[in-house]
Amino acid sequence: MRKLNSLLLMVACACLIFTSCDNNSEITSEQEIPQEVLAHLEAAHFDTDHVMVTEGGYIVEGDIFFTEQQILNLNPGSHLPHAEQYSTDNLVTGLPRVITMYASEGRKGYSPAMIAGLDEAIARFNARGLSITFQRISNSRSADIVMTRLSKRDERRGVLGSAGFPTASGDPYGEIKMSGILESSYGLSTDGIATIIAHEMGHCIGFRHTDYFDRSISCGGSTANEGDGGVGANHIPGTPTGADLAGNGSWMLACTDGSDRPFTSADRTALDYLY
Ligand SMILES: [Zn+2]
Repeated sequence: MRKLNSLLLMVACACLIFTSCDNNSEITSEQEIPQEVLAHLEAAHFDTDHVMVTEGGYIVEGDIFFTEQQILNLNPGSHLPHAEQYSTDNLVTGLPRVITMYASEGRKGYSPAMIAGLDEAIARFNARGLSITFQRISNSRSADIVMTRLSKRDERRGVLGSAGFPTASGDPYGEIKMSGILESSYGLSTDGIATIIAHEMGHCIGFRHTDYFDRSISCGGSTANEGDGGVGANHIPGTPTGADLAGNGSWMLACTDGSDRPFTSADRTALDYLY
């Protein structure tokens, strides 16, 4: 998930200032990304203007992590639906199921505000009475999803969080990388932080972006279709057509202004339908 508007510009400026005094750090350009990777993303209708190189792979569309192998295995998208709620083909199976989460606390871990945000995000899902529930545990090795810190480079580039989609064997994606500067640099509230963590948890259990068909709805800029991406973009029955920013908007919109986005009635319908 990325932050837009004036704050993003501030981050962009900070990047420029920082990199100008650090010869070892470079702003990613498309030249670093192999043509083959871009070609596969393009064929699968992903936005290739905003691909970022990151540790172990690439961040696509602002916050979706793929390894190079996953990108090379993408199938060209076949259909481009125009409705509000979408899921990937792979969903979490073995229901009912408790998904355990771990985030390190203390001096080298996340701040109390981040932990409070995680707990609030978990509470929002658990209040829905779904067949999946989340539980924060204190042991990273037995956790289904581990929350780790984004690289400083990604933080500086305005990434707020990133995650991937469920595995083919029906497990949630196992890692959410979160920015550690949401409170200190952006001044986000617990609810704003919870919204971003809940968004990344949404990816881990198979939600695509609500404004999938045109991410300019939440991200601004020119009209851009994310495409099917070869991971499936299946309309969830009972959810309305056309994403918008009315009220606070869906928690799965591609971009955020940092405000609180509790589940809308369409979000609740989608959660109830999938789980
Ligand atoms: Zn996202």
